[in-house]
Amino acid sequence: MTIIIRVPQQAEEENIMSELKTHQGACHCGAVKFEIDAPSQLHAHACNCSICYQSGGDQMIVPTSRFRLLCGEDAITTYTFNTGAAQHTFCKHCGIKAFYTPRSNPDGFSVNLRCLDRTHVESIVVDSFDGQNWEQNAGALAHLSREG
Ligand SMILES: [Zn+2]
Repeated sequence: MTIIIRVPQQAEEENIMSELKTHQGACHCGAVKFEIDAPSQLHAHACNCSICYQSGGDQMIVPTSRFRLLCGEDAITTYTFNTGAAQHTFCKHCGIKAFYTPRSNPDGFSVNLRCLDRTHVESIVVDSFDGQNWEQNAGALAHLSREG
Protein backbone atom coordinates (compact mmCIF):
# COMPACT_ATOMS: atom_id res chain seq x y z
CA MET A 1 0.00 0.00 0.00
CA THR A 2 1.25 3.46 -0.82
CA ILE A 3 0.28 6.42 1.23
CA ILE A 4 0.51 9.73 -0.53
CA ILE A 5 0.40 12.78 1.63
CA ARG A 6 -0.50 15.78 -0.45
CA VAL A 7 0.94 19.12 0.47
CA PRO A 8 -1.56 21.91 -0.11
CA GLN A 9 -0.39 24.15 -2.93
CA GLN A 10 -0.56 27.24 -0.82
CA ALA A 11 1.81 25.78 1.75
CA GLU A 12 4.20 24.85 -1.04
CA GLU A 13 4.22 28.42 -2.29
CA GLU A 14 4.80 29.73 1.21
CA ASN A 15 7.77 27.40 1.56
CA ILE A 16 9.30 28.75 -1.62
CA MET A 17 8.67 32.29 -0.45
CA SER A 18 10.29 31.65 2.90
CA GLU A 19 13.37 29.88 1.51
CA LEU A 20 16.33 31.46 3.26
CA LYS A 21 19.06 33.30 1.38
CA THR A 22 22.31 34.60 2.80
CA HIS A 23 22.30 38.40 2.68
CA GLN A 24 25.54 40.34 3.13
CA GLY A 25 25.53 43.56 5.11
CA ALA A 26 27.96 46.26 6.20
CA CYS A 27 28.23 49.68 7.80
CA HIS A 28 29.02 52.70 5.63
CA CYS A 29 32.82 52.51 5.87
CA GLY A 30 32.89 48.72 5.63
CA ALA A 31 34.75 48.12 8.89
CA VAL A 32 31.77 46.12 10.20
CA LYS A 33 30.55 43.29 7.99
CA PHE A 34 27.91 40.71 8.74
CA GLU A 35 25.53 38.30 7.06
CA ILE A 36 22.05 37.04 7.83
CA ASP A 37 19.91 34.15 6.63
CA ALA A 38 16.50 35.50 5.63
CA PRO A 39 13.93 35.18 2.86
CA SER A 40 14.27 37.35 -0.23
CA GLN A 41 10.98 39.01 0.68
CA LEU A 42 11.78 40.94 3.81
CA HIS A 43 9.55 42.41 6.47
CA ALA A 44 10.80 45.40 8.47
CA HIS A 45 9.56 47.74 11.14
CA ALA A 46 10.03 51.48 11.23
CA CYS A 47 9.97 52.45 14.90
CA ASN A 48 9.08 55.86 16.28
CA CYS A 49 10.77 55.54 19.69
CA SER A 50 13.18 58.26 20.82
CA ILE A 51 16.32 56.73 19.30
CA CYS A 52 14.89 54.99 16.21
CA TYR A 53 13.07 58.14 15.15
CA GLN A 54 16.32 60.09 15.20
CA SER A 55 18.59 57.48 13.65
CA GLY A 56 16.07 56.15 11.09
CA GLY A 57 16.39 52.77 9.38
CA ASP A 58 14.18 49.84 8.47
CA GLN A 59 14.71 47.26 11.20
CA MET A 60 14.19 43.51 10.89
CA ILE A 61 14.64 41.19 13.86
CA VAL A 62 16.37 37.84 13.23
CA PRO A 63 17.24 34.93 15.54
CA THR A 64 20.88 34.89 16.70
CA SER A 65 21.41 31.64 14.79
CA ARG A 66 20.69 33.49 11.52
CA PHE A 67 23.17 36.31 12.18
CA ARG A 68 26.94 36.14 11.73
CA LEU A 69 29.40 38.95 12.39
CA LEU A 70 32.09 38.56 9.72
CA CYS A 71 34.48 41.30 10.84
CA GLY A 72 34.71 44.54 12.78
CA GLU A 73 34.27 43.44 16.37
CA ASP A 74 36.90 46.02 17.39
CA ALA A 75 35.12 48.75 15.40
CA ILE A 76 31.85 48.30 17.27
CA THR A 77 30.96 50.49 20.22
CA THR A 78 27.76 50.46 22.26
CA TYR A 79 25.33 53.11 23.41
CA THR A 80 22.71 52.42 26.07
CA PHE A 81 20.04 54.55 27.74
CA ASN A 82 16.88 54.24 29.84
CA THR A 83 16.66 50.58 31.05
CA GLY A 84 20.01 49.77 29.40
CA ALA A 85 18.50 46.57 28.03
CA ALA A 86 18.94 47.41 24.36
CA GLN A 87 22.54 47.34 23.17
CA HIS A 88 22.75 50.04 20.52
CA THR A 89 25.88 48.87 18.75
CA PHE A 90 27.33 51.02 16.00
CA CYS A 91 30.54 51.50 14.03
CA LYS A 92 32.82 53.96 15.82
CA HIS A 93 34.39 55.02 12.52
CA CYS A 94 31.34 55.90 10.38
CA GLY A 95 28.61 56.02 13.05
CA ILE A 96 26.24 53.66 11.25
CA LYS A 97 24.13 51.29 13.33
CA ALA A 98 23.93 48.34 10.94
CA PHE A 99 22.50 46.05 13.63
CA TYR A 100 21.86 46.07 17.36
CA THR A 101 20.41 43.99 20.17
CA PRO A 102 16.87 45.20 20.82
CA ARG A 103 15.19 45.35 24.21
CA SER A 104 12.17 43.50 22.73
CA ASN A 105 14.36 40.61 21.54
CA PRO A 106 17.58 40.36 23.60
CA ASP A 107 17.97 36.82 22.20
CA GLY A 108 18.20 38.11 18.64
CA PHE A 109 19.52 40.92 16.47
CA SER A 110 17.73 43.78 14.81
CA VAL A 111 19.28 44.42 11.41
CA ASN A 112 18.99 47.68 9.52
CA LEU A 113 17.86 46.53 6.07
CA ARG A 114 19.30 49.72 4.55
CA CYS A 115 22.73 48.21 5.28
CA LEU A 116 22.03 45.00 3.32
CA ASP A 117 23.34 44.18 -0.11
CA ARG A 118 20.31 44.01 -2.44
CA THR A 119 21.46 41.06 -4.56
CA HIS A 120 18.98 38.60 -3.01
CA VAL A 121 16.35 41.13 -1.93
CA GLU A 122 13.10 40.92 -3.90
CA SER A 123 11.01 43.19 -1.73
CA ILE A 124 10.91 44.96 1.60
CA VAL A 125 7.61 45.60 3.35
CA VAL A 126 7.92 48.19 6.11
CA ASP A 127 5.29 48.36 8.84
CA SER A 128 5.27 51.12 11.40
CA PHE A 129 5.95 50.09 14.98
CA ASP A 130 4.72 52.35 17.78
CA GLY A 131 7.81 52.34 19.96
CA GLN A 132 6.60 55.47 21.76
CA ASN A 133 4.20 53.07 23.50
CA TRP A 134 6.78 50.31 23.76
CA GLU A 135 5.29 48.47 26.77
CA GLN A 136 1.95 47.94 25.00
CA ASN A 137 3.46 46.88 21.68
CA ALA A 138 6.75 45.04 22.25
CA GLY A 139 5.00 41.69 22.79
CA ALA A 140 4.02 41.64 19.12
CA LEU A 141 7.72 41.37 18.20
CA ALA A 142 8.69 38.60 20.64
CA HIS A 143 8.29 35.75 18.12
CA LEU A 144 10.64 37.33 15.57
CA SER A 145 13.84 36.14 17.26
CA ARG A 146 12.59 32.55 17.43
CA GLU A 147 13.47 29.91 14.86
CA GLY A 148 10.88 28.76 12.37
ZN1 LIG B 1 31.75 51.90 9.69
